[in-house]
Amino acid sequence: MALTGTKKMLEMAYKNGYAIGAFNVNNMEITQGIIAAVAEEKAPLILQVSRGARAYASIGYLKAIINVAVEENPEIPIAIHLDHGDSFETCKQFVDDGFTSVMIDASKQAFDENVRVSREVVEYAHARDVCVEAELGQLGGIEEDVGGVSADDVSKYLTDPDQAVEFVEKTRCDSLAVACGTSHGAFKFKSEPKLAFDVIEEIGRRLPGFPLVMHGSSSVLQEFKDLINNYGGDMPDAMGVPESAIARASKMAICKVNIDTDLRMALTAKIREVFAKEPAEFDPRKYLGPGREAIKDMVKHKLQILGCAGKASECM
Ligand SMILES: [Zn+2]
Repeated sequence: MALTGTKKMLEMAYKNGYAIGAFNVNNMEITQGIIAAVAEEKAPLILQVSRGARAYASIGYLKAIINVAVEENPEIPIAIHLDHGDSFETCKQFVDDGFTSVMIDASKQAFDENVRVSREVVEYAHARDVCVEAELGQLGGIEEDVGGVSADDVSKYLTDPDQAVEFVEKTRCDSLAVACGTSHGAFKFKSEPKLAFDVIEEIGRRLPGFPLVMHGSSSVLQEFKDLINNYGGDMPDAMGVPESAIARASKMAICKVNIDTDLRMALTAKIREVFAKEPAEFDPRKYLGPGREAIKDMVKHKLQILGCAGKASECM
């Protein structure tokens, strides 16, 4: 069995200057596309499930799909992680369901309340050998029901390095999602964003050895944006974080990079292309199949950007 926690992965990523890709899963094709990519690239993997994914697919189906992926790939360390747990109860439910890592996102609460809730989750999770990611600072954009500050304001809500030190000491979380200029969703920015590398650097300096997490880090790849817009879609203003910035952050204290929008766009782009080019086609395998293939190729590319390709064995 290669189902594992995130501790070793994040440790190795920190030590050796790369980041683990954390990809959101909602159904079988998305999961298969991601798994095929990490299997070919021999990369460690974090599969993440949001509350929205759980509501859509039900935990039983998602876990069954993930279990097959784990069984079929014993040489790949795979962690299953709750993305944006909103309360102690949500996190407890995912821990009890066998997840190896959970995120508590109480970043909208006042600092003391964020500390209190995050600490409560850490106590419950650590007693069961489950890792905890917490969040401090506010990201832009919208991710499912996770609303953030407006994309124009992301630079005003960056994580404060002093607070980060105090937060980590008080909560004893295993990793921290920081606001460093990224934003959730496909419409992150109006012009090319500048990540706050100074914030990443300063928090990294103050918390040596401690892994940081970057959310809202899809790049909105031109290839998929063009396919979507050329084949009846309407996303002309979509814009993400440049991959060069992701690659640079991955070499710093950022050890986990969350990617969801790029998966959604790859699948949507290919489905739109098939529908446009072959309007008589109605076999779902004929459009979901190419979508799955596009996800695989896109994820393989991301693993190179993050630097985690070939790192599976050292994370076991
Ligand atoms: Zn997020």
